Amino acid sequence: MATARFTRRGLLLGAGALAAAAPLPEDDAVGQPLRPWRRGGLDIHHIATGRGDSTLIIGPDGSSLMIDAGASSTPPPASLEIRPSPDRRAGEWIGRYALRHLAATGEPKLDAVLVSHLHPDHIDGLYDVAALLPIGALVDRGYPDYAYPAVWDAPFAKAYIAFVRERVRAGGRVERFRVGAADQFALPGAEIRNLAANGEVWRGRGTETRRLFPPIDTLPKDDIPDENACSAAIRLRYGDFGYFAAGDLTSNNFDGTLPWRDVETRAAQVAGRVDVAVAAHHGMFDATGADVVRALKPRTWIIPGWHAAHPSTDTLDRMLSPRLYPGPRDVFATGLSPANELTHKWLTDRLAARGGHVVIRVAPGGTSYRVIVTDNRDEGDRVISRSGPWPAGRADG
Ligand SMILES: [Zn+2]
Repeated sequence: MATARFTRRGLLLGAGALAAAAPLPEDDAVGQPLRPWRRGGLDIHHIATGRGDSTLIIGPDGSSLMIDAGASSTPPPASLEIRPSPDRRAGEWIGRYALRHLAATGEPKLDAVLVSHLHPDHIDGLYDVAALLPIGALVDRGYPDYAYPAVWDAPFAKAYIAFVRERVRAGGRVERFRVGAADQFALPGAEIRNLAANGEVWRGRGTETRRLFPPIDTLPKDDIPDENACSAAIRLRYGDFGYFAAGDLTSNNFDGTLPWRDVETRAAQVAGRVDVAVAAHHGMFDATGADVVRALKPRTWIIPGWHAAHPSTDTLDRMLSPRLYPGPRDVFATGLSPANELTHKWLTDRLAARGGHVVIRVAPGGTSYRVIVTDNRDEGDRVISRSGPWPAGRADG
């Protein structure tokens, strides 16, 4: 090349010869490391540590959002073993994962973290993540008073609130999740709509909302909504691509006796059909009810699984049911315990993945997406499977 004459024609010929001699490796080939994020694309990483939920979203311009950073202390066999290994805490693995994958943006930082609700499998890894990389805004359902529906005195909630107070004292940003807003999370090129939290649900137009829960002081103690029912839910849109995530929100209405407790169905109905949906509450018995499945109709389901109870038989059956919506679909679990696999093998045999990080890789412009599962047994991010591309925004079947 040193003797090449750099005419335009010569450059073009030279580039063609180079491409023919050394073809670029195929993106995300099985056995190869996941290729880094590229500008214009949108990546959604469901990080599998075996101890809770954490999702890293890298937007088309490199802006980022993490939803939850869980680190349950429940040991095996009820939960899975920590991945890649128990040598580090789950939160450290999450932070390292984020650092690794945000490197491609040129500035490894989290522009925002959304805490869906205050349970250890969604918050206890946050402190390790915050120690490893800067966080722009921290958004949760309870700031600033953390008093709805009641003040939490559990140690993990107290630890979280102490973290928030310290962050505010040091000049850090903390915000309360604003239901109905589409401007709380800046992911330029894409839109994140805040669908629900604290029993309040977006109405589907403007930023109007309605409240499903009766005034707390009118409720018998046993009917007061629990932490899961107060979870924050969002819909992400990028071009034609749609994605639904709702923390541990539930659709359980206690056999019809407490219809207002079913926030998840209202959130799913206002979200409408999406390409990818995360099964709320890890696919457990009280979530992803039939009307949630009918409303979302995803081509791709993701179950954030890390406990023997994830998912429940009836919930997985609904997700796979062609009676609730027609057409093919795949269900990817970030983890599946041997006990769960045995419980309903006829259903778990149909899972597209039983373990590993599940990465949704949306093409520039949001026209299509792939699902890539990577190995969580080390930090090599090697591709285990790749499916798609699926066109985004399919017409209703
Ligand atoms: Zn959970």
